[in-house]
Amino acid sequence: MSSRGQAFIVSAPAGTGKTTLVDRLTDEFPHIVRSISYTTRQPRGNEKEGQDYHFVSFQEFEHKINRGDFIEYAQVFGNFYGTEKASIEKLLEKGLDVVLVIDTQGALEIKPFFKGVYIFMGPPSMEELEKRLRERETDSHEDIELRLSWAHKEIEKAPHYDYNITNCNLEKTYVVLKSIFIAEKNKQRK
Ligand code: 5GP
Repeated sequence: MSSRGQAFIVSAPAGTGKTTLVDRLTDEFPHIVRSISYTTRQPRGNEKEGQDYHFVSFQEFEHKINRGDFIEYAQVFGNFYGTEKASIEKLLEKGLDVVLVIDTQGALEIKPFFKGVYIFMGPPSMEELEKRLRERETDSHEDIELRLSWAHKEIEKAPHYDYNITNCNLEKTYVVLKSIFIAEKNKQRK
């Protein structure tokens, strides 16, 4: 592959279905890969090191901040999350398209200088989001409350993105997401 890949930045409140949708996209299109963030949070459920996240201690994370390894990092729900500059650069250089699944703080921080397609994905309603969070049974009651109040703040940032899509139905939303990727890949860039 010769030309540089494109970056796609996806933000969505927890429970919106972003992980399922992005996984589907990377399964269907081998040239699309997900950036693996660093986090200080503990693995949940079946999450695996290097596949879902790089799970590191706070000390390791701090060391990476001080070394300037991150293009952005943010504190979300009491844990730190960060995107490593060198690893996304390497993937883009290889001609791969890279999806950064990051929160609104990180996305809007890099938007002024990091070229990419910024996509916000929202839930159909707060009631539905609450239902989905309860159904996935990975978070405690307190965590769900925290995630819901944070979701309100994230949804307010949606107008700053290039695309704002609502995940009412996984199948339909997948088609929308995939269409954005296909259209952006074929866009004339002058
Ligand atoms: P979770 O703990 O549910 O996997 O993720 C919590 C939030 O952190 C989600 O909104 C997710 O998109 C965000 N997140 C994951 N990785 C990063 C990252 O590298 N940077 C930022 N800013 N947010 C991230």
